[in-house]
Amino acid sequence: MSPEVPDKGVLEATLDTIRDAVLITEPYPDPVITFANAAFYGLTGYTPPEVIGKTPALLQGSNTPPDWLDIFRQPASSASDAPVEITNYHKDGTPRQLEWSVSSWPAGKPAQYLIAVQRDVTGLRDLERHHLQLQVLAQMQKLVSTAGLDLRVLRQKVADVALEATGAEAAVVEEAIGDDMVYTAVAGTARPVMGLRLPIDASLSGICYREQVPLLCPDTHQDPRVARSTAEEIGFRSGLLVPLLHEGHCFGALKVYSSWPHAFRQDQLELLEMASQVLTASLHDARQFKREQERRTLLVDSLPLLISFIDDDYRYREINAAYTRWFGLEPDRLLGQKVVDVLGQEAFDNIRGYMSAALAGDQVRFETTVPYALGGTRPVEAEYIPVRDGEGHVSGFYALVRDISERKSAERDYLTRAYNRRGFDQHMETAFATASRYGRPLSLLFLDIDNFKPVNDQCGHAVGDRILQKVASLLMGLARESDTVCRWGGEEFAVLVPETGLAEATELGERLRKAIATDVKSPLGPITVSIGVVERRPRESRKQLAHRADKALYRAKELGRDRVEASGS
Ligand code: GH3
Ligand code: MG
Ligand code: MG
Repeated sequence: MSPEVPDKGVLEATLDTIRDAVLITEPYPDPVITFANAAFYGLTGYTPPEVIGKTPALLQGSNTPPDWLDIFRQPASSASDAPVEITNYHKDGTPRQLEWSVSSWPAGKPAQYLIAVQRDVTGLRDLERHHLQLQVLAQMQKLVSTAGLDLRVLRQKVADVALEATGAEAAVVEEAIGDDMVYTAVAGTARPVMGLRLPIDASLSGICYREQVPLLCPDTHQDPRVARSTAEEIGFRSGLLVPLLHEGHCFGALKVYSSWPHAFRQDQLELLEMASQVLTASLHDARQFKREQERRTLLVDSLPLLISFIDDDYRYREINAAYTRWFGLEPDRLLGQKVVDVLGQEAFDNIRGYMSAALAGDQVRFETTVPYALGGTRPVEAEYIPVRDGEGHVSGFYALVRDISERKSAERDYLTRAYNRRGFDQHMETAFATASRYGRPLSLLFLDIDNFKPVNDQCGHAVGDRILQKVASLLMGLARESDTVCRWGGEEFAVLVPETGLAEATELGERLRKAIATDVKSPLGPITVSIGVVERRPRESRKQLAHRADKALYRAKELGRDRVEASGS
């Protein structure tokens, strides 16, 4: 006895017991549904009258590929072929991820019916998505904590992460600069279009930026807001865009895209949005940091000061724009160089002591001369400010160097290069302060050229000028480094001699007198000087001392000129 074939009722009841949804339809191109099992009604929310006699197109929605019914076109003869995953929609509009397996019946012959089985993988995909999101967010957290504040590096990482997290072909960080959206970082196939600019008002990312909303663009061909020619040029057919928002301030958009339509799903947009929230805070910080640096550089470069940071190996680590002007060298020729190689041995030797003091932690200030791009040297005033690291160890110092050649030349007499009264007064002040504080001797010499008027009148002013220069250079040559030679006025000079008492100062006066009488000549004969010498008395003012020196000089004139008169205390 052959077993009985169960009747249709039993088969239908059987199909109603399984969890997968099953549809039986007529063949392609019009797969009208002739049967659906209970699981199908449960899955879709439709009732039999809404399903029987319709096609599966009723499951279509915004994220369902328009050509999805093609899966009914060439069904497998057996159900072993890989299922196809499609986003379909419940009657109430909620999306479901369904895996479709379509086969035809009878096998091996022209199809009479198509049997479509759908498995609901929405829950599975949700789990996978959450897993991926966690992974991406964890990765991002790590990235943020290791990327530092280098804006360029950070932007690039944002683009790389967005590309990886969404599996897109291209990712772009776009920042609003002026009226444009500018591609400031690119990844994937967007790499060749770095720096691209599009008007904010005429691009999809502009809308995302302006309205601060995430956008899913399923197909640029169907979207009137898209700048079509650019989209074509960069291969943007579908994409996701999220605003770069930080504390209510939007500074751009993050975009991922594909050259295919419908390449992205809503959940990827959500992921990208979450990712951008994590990244934007650090991107924002990096942008702020860069702006501060730029502002600082602008300020530091526009100061009329040479500003550098010199490390404990005597190398330049930072320099401002003034260095380029001073040395005529671009920054990359100076950075990392040793100070001695830039300034030369002589200038380096002059400042070596100050540098070691700064490295020992002292703030120092001094005057020196340094070589200048256009040749020669210039007088400068330098200040070194030690910089300590976290442990209190001096890692280097800031050197602030000011050109004081103008101030210096204002202290000198134009004709003779001796100090003028202004420069002399400054030296007098310092010398007086030292002498009175430490009770040290200090002497002053006044010199006046004898019978100079006839020389001028008879030989001419030019000859007189040359004699004044000769006398000054003799005085400066014979005086010590610590002495100050000044052209007091006309043909009178003053020499300030610290650490020197009257007797020694008088000897100096004698040497000066003799040297001039021997070496300086006019067409009318040898040039001589009369000299008055005084030593500072305790509590004596500068004016009183000068007055006494003048009196001593007057006495020398009275007593016949070409002589030195000292005035005891
Ligand atoms: P005495 O021995 O009494 O000092 O006689 P003297 O002729 O030097 O005295 P006096 O003060 O009458 O003359 C100073 C002269 O110095 C007047 C002026 O012709 C000259 N003199 C002053 N300043 C300059 C200058 O800058 N250049 C030149 N060539 N001559 C000057
Ligand atoms: Mg005179
Ligand atoms: Mg004179």
